[in-house]
Amino acid sequence: MTREQLQAIAEERGTPVVVIDHDIIRRNYAAFRKNLPRVQAYYAVKANPAPEIIRTLYRAGASFDVASMPEFMLVYDNIQHLDARAQQDFIWDKIVYANPIKPQKTLEALNQYKPLVTFDNPSELDKIKQHAPDAGLILRLRVPNTGSMVELSSKFGCDPGDAVGLIEAAFGMGLVVEGVSFHVGSQCTNFHNFVQAFGIASAVMREAASRGHKLKILDIGGGFPAPYNRHVKPFSALARTINAEIRRLFPSDTEFLAEPGRFLVATAATLVARIIGKAVRDGKTCYYIDDSVYHTYSGIIFDHCHYSVKSFKRGAAEVCAVFGQTCDGLDTISHSEQLPDLDIGDIVYSEDIGAYSNASSTWFNGFPPAQVVHINE
Ligand SMILES: *Cc1c(COP(=O)(O)O)cnc(C)c1O
Repeated sequence: MTREQLQAIAEERGTPVVVIDHDIIRRNYAAFRKNLPRVQAYYAVKANPAPEIIRTLYRAGASFDVASMPEFMLVYDNIQHLDARAQQDFIWDKIVYANPIKPQKTLEALNQYKPLVTFDNPSELDKIKQHAPDAGLILRLRVPNTGSMVELSSKFGCDPGDAVGLIEAAFGMGLVVEGVSFHVGSQCTNFHNFVQAFGIASAVMREAASRGHKLKILDIGGGFPAPYNRHVKPFSALARTINAEIRRLFPSDTEFLAEPGRFLVATAATLVARIIGKAVRDGKTCYYIDDSVYHTYSGIIFDHCHYSVKSFKRGAAEVCAVFGQTCDGLDTISHSEQLPDLDIGDIVYSEDIGAYSNASSTWFNGFPPAQVVHINE
């Protein structure tokens, strides 16, 4: 996606506009599969639920991780639309429902699909037994999330020490546990988390097998880091670590799933926004743009992510602040960006903004979410 293309799209469509390049999504998916050949990728739809992305990834061979009934139907309907045979296909190959906590109504609606679902506690097992007894189960384990940008281990995952007891309890109730899963935390740049998680999962699977329950699936979750900056080690290095653990610890007939979200889509989108205000406060130039942390920059709040704001204009840069369009003081995009002297009406852009960005846009203050333009679909 060139700067000229971005400028032309902003000119034609107006701002703010998120440009999603499907060539990059396909490239990220291919890199995932090439580096982790034994692992099927279930795209975590919450990272960016655009139906166009679902269709592109389905065509490339991906499966999907969903976490709500609307997400399940979004994937189901889009893959039906592409492939009439998908309806007869075994849904586990295409969708995992990976939210360990499910409303009863969702379980009732899911049961007809005989879905693959995760759980991590005894109350959830009771609910599944009552409302979705035909589901296949995956037990989510709690694993270290040390250093990940978004941590999940205080919210989800059973203690490894309780895992085999829960597996036995499920079988005792007439349910079927197919495997275990973990999530090392999102944007996991500490690869040791994966090593520890594989160790924990392997110990649980061995112990379950020794008690007569051989589990066939290991779902290694998400967390694969996007290359937001030069400190993120290359994906190929993480893949080498993962492949070594897979070879070292698991029987050769184990099926591996992963749920990459951010890794597949973060680098595929660029936001173009426009300067709508300019002021000097305490000697620092402050720019106001027509997007906000309630919109495409929501990842600043929810995802602990930082996005650089860049200029199309050249010129000597100075430190300035960039604020969003809303009246809220929280709506601060950056206190220190390097930008040349810009005028009202100039456009700026932020790269690598495809994950956890416009997915959580609101209408706060009456401002609508940015338009989305898909290229190379
Ligand atoms: C959010 C989420 C993912 C995706 O995580 P990324 O860090 O974006 O790869 C995968 N699995 C589950 C269960 C999730 O909640």
